[in-house]
Amino acid sequence: MAASDPPVPSSPAPSLDFIRQIVDADRSSGAHQGRVHTRFPPEPNGYLHIGHAKSICLNFGVAQEYGGLCNLRYDDTNPAKEDVEYVDAIRDDVRWLGFSWDDREFYASDYFEQLYQYAEMLIRDGLAFVDDQNADEMRTTRGTLTEPGTNSPYRDRSVDENLDLFRRMRAGEFADGSRVLRAKIDMASPNINMRDPVLYRIRRATHHRTGDTWCIYPMYDYAHPLSDALEGITHSLCTLEFEDHRPFYNWCIEHLPAPSQPQQIEFARLNLTYTLMSKRKLLKLVQDGVVSGWNDPRMPTLAGIRRRGVPAAALRDFCDRIGVAKKENVIDVALLEHCVREDLNRHARRVMAVLDPVKVVIENYPAGQVETLEAVNNPEDPAAGVRQVPFSREIYIDRDDFREDPPKKYFRLSPGAEVRLRWAYIIRCTSVVKDADGTITEIRCTYDEATGRSSTPADGRKVKGTIHWVSAPHAIDVEARLYDRLFTTEDPEAVPEGKDFVVNLNPASLEVVTACKAEPSVAGLPAGTTMQFERTGYFCVDPDSTSSRLVVNRTVGLRDTWAKLEARG
Ligand code: ATP
Ligand code: MG
Repeated sequence: MAASDPPVPSSPAPSLDFIRQIVDADRSSGAHQGRVHTRFPPEPNGYLHIGHAKSICLNFGVAQEYGGLCNLRYDDTNPAKEDVEYVDAIRDDVRWLGFSWDDREFYASDYFEQLYQYAEMLIRDGLAFVDDQNADEMRTTRGTLTEPGTNSPYRDRSVDENLDLFRRMRAGEFADGSRVLRAKIDMASPNINMRDPVLYRIRRATHHRTGDTWCIYPMYDYAHPLSDALEGITHSLCTLEFEDHRPFYNWCIEHLPAPSQPQQIEFARLNLTYTLMSKRKLLKLVQDGVVSGWNDPRMPTLAGIRRRGVPAAALRDFCDRIGVAKKENVIDVALLEHCVREDLNRHARRVMAVLDPVKVVIENYPAGQVETLEAVNNPEDPAAGVRQVPFSREIYIDRDDFREDPPKKYFRLSPGAEVRLRWAYIIRCTSVVKDADGTITEIRCTYDEATGRSSTPADGRKVKGTIHWVSAPHAIDVEARLYDRLFTTEDPEAVPEGKDFVVNLNPASLEVVTACKAEPSVAGLPAGTTMQFERTGYFCVDPDSTSSRLVVNRTVGLRDTWAKLEARG
């Protein structure tokens, strides 16, 4: 985290954030008849990402806390970029995050006829006109931040002419882009959004809900406040980039007989280090095949992190901790990972799996003998119980848990040394077998039968290291997909002049390890099951698994950089 960032609280803020303060005050003063009604308004032009989770938790959270309601509303005013695939994915994601909108699933397109009628009202009131200027002409007459714009030559058309033209726009008489309907406000306004903003454009595109019924579509800035008002929304929570749009939001509500008076409140969007949060750019990664799809486990989409194994509760906890404020900042992705580890540590069952197996033969263990040893499923959760793990003469351990020439203080296995097998015996290495290249193919050991499970050696000798293992004849083949950050830079969007953000991609963000071995209890686990591979990390079963091959995604490693930062204060 950058030095200038405000500290992030490690638990939910005890005091109310500024939005909840506003809602509190509104309820005390009787504004909105004491009602609280929010909405989460995604545009179905991509999958939701972690940033959206902040907005979902806020909108649904505030409604829940005040006994109000939150709608799911699709802002589907741009048919060229929208798709039912996204509509369905958004529904799944919000549900997964743990929120319900009951039967209040709405679409801006539900209101197209009403919005059209409102537009005719504006024309009749002399507050809107049909402009024949093309996009370039409008851009050049809009002015700049320091200079006012100039009125369109079509601004003073009569009401009748405007009504006629607007109806003919709807009827499909004019070419795409040849005319627009604009509000008539003030071309000299210091706020560019008030300089006769466009209300409707002509676009022949098939809409995923309304089909070819319409060839004119309302602009987002016009549709949004009115959709809010039509749904009786009280607090319309959005991100800071809409602050300058608020005057036009209010203008729409004030100049039309809207059935309610929603209030727009802006908050800072979530930015995360090493994480790209723009649907447009994420779409590019999908289209260019940089990732396998919107739900690639490296993607910051909710579909991606869910497949990766991030529990919804961890994401909600993260959103609680970062809170809601008015000032832009950047959150360290290590905090999210910390929340994920905390949750998985409590809930994920432990299993033993070896990512880089090397065979160990226990010479004094009878060939063909198998015994089952009891292993604790989760030391953090006694209710998780125990399981039986088979033990036999041949086992696998991780190659990294053996050193032929151990450095000082190496407490794992090495020639002549002893190590404890987790939930099992102490073994001693007697020799190693190598192939022609000098690679170790087998480690020979003996075991001390008197040291089963947790019992300490009778002679009181100390064995410091404990390593995990898997019985070779019982092992399940596992493909482990190990992920690293998708981007190598803290701010993936910061790129040298003329370059594209893809220059910041991490070429080593995925490592597939195909020869892993895991204990038999993982056989047939359904996709989405999370677990801790002891000493290795947290993993989640991937839907690519088949009956003969388990595929797992590494959710996070065990090392917690955030916990360390916190401890240092
Ligand atoms: P993107 O910038 O990724 O394309 P968007 O803002 O265009 O996202 P919408 O579908 O319009 O996506 O967003 C739905 C809601 O989620 C909006 O109210 C928006 O303000 C909010 N939102 C989007 N990104 C973030 C973010 N990073 N943090 C908090 N809220 C966000
Ligand atoms: Mg948007």
